[in-house]
Amino acid sequence: MNAWTTLAAAAVLAGAAASASAQNQGLGALNDLLKGTVPANSPLGGLLGGTAPAPAAAPAAAAGDLMALLMQADGVIDEPREIEIGRQLAAVLLGSKPLHGDAALQRYVNQLGRWISLHSSRPLLPWTFGVLDDPGFNAFAAPGGYVFVTKGLIDRVDEAELAGILAHEITHVTERHHLNALRAKARAGIATQFVGSQLRTNAVGSLVSAQVLALGRNLYSSGLDQGDEYSADREGVALAARAGFDPYGLPGVLQQLRTQAPDNPLFTLSLSTHPPAQQRLDLLEQAMGRRLDALAGKPVVRIEQRLAPARR
Ligand SMILES: [Zn+2]
Repeated sequence: MNAWTTLAAAAVLAGAAASASAQNQGLGALNDLLKGTVPANSPLGGLLGGTAPAPAAAPAAAAGDLMALLMQADGVIDEPREIEIGRQLAAVLLGSKPLHGDAALQRYVNQLGRWISLHSSRPLLPWTFGVLDDPGFNAFAAPGGYVFVTKGLIDRVDEAELAGILAHEITHVTERHHLNALRAKARAGIATQFVGSQLRTNAVGSLVSAQVLALGRNLYSSGLDQGDEYSADREGVALAARAGFDPYGLPGVLQQLRTQAPDNPLFTLSLSTHPPAQQRLDLLEQAMGRRLDALAGKPVVRIEQRLAPARR
């Protein structure tokens, strides 16, 4: 059992306890997040909260239909359903690790992520970014515009590097990498291993298809296709540069990953679900050449520097 499935299993066991501590600020914000009712002044609201469209969540009764939709060989999954699937997967992620309690940090990461997403091919998705209270080094995306990074990652990167990571994750969303992987897994019968009721109530009280949850756990523990990862690296570097950040942010993160021992538990999941960092760096170098060098060399901005005014 790897780190992720261990976390997921623990989350299921902790589900009942979690609902008992709903007054907890992190879980309260999570409830808002998953209901799509994030108030503009909440940690997850962010500066641009007022201008982002409200998530077009499908009715809970449709949760069971999502699985049927994923299994269709050539069915088109429209944007509201894509967002609903993502909302359910975000619940899987947040069921394993709570949001970090630092409201200023959550606001900053939301602002940064939304700014970058405005330069993406799908600026109008209801983009939502969050920091998970986890010492590991990781980032996750879910369909429809959900992106999470761990506090352990935040503590080890500067702003350009974080921008590179967010741009990589945003690309997974805009290119529908997770959605396509879910469909492939659904058709391969991964979810049918799941027995029991079709619909369950998750830790935050939403009705969720047990099969979609099983698929999500499988996906986040096994990772995406390598081709999707290389594509997210390439497009992510270009996206970060378009948004005004040093294009060498993501390569900087990969250099850090390259030097980590694979058995360092904080990096295990990140390393096991992605192609080797050296390989990613080599392919990025081929794709970038020296074309982005003119945009490089910006002054390094530490995240604490950005947060200092908010903490005064
Ligand atoms: Zn990735």
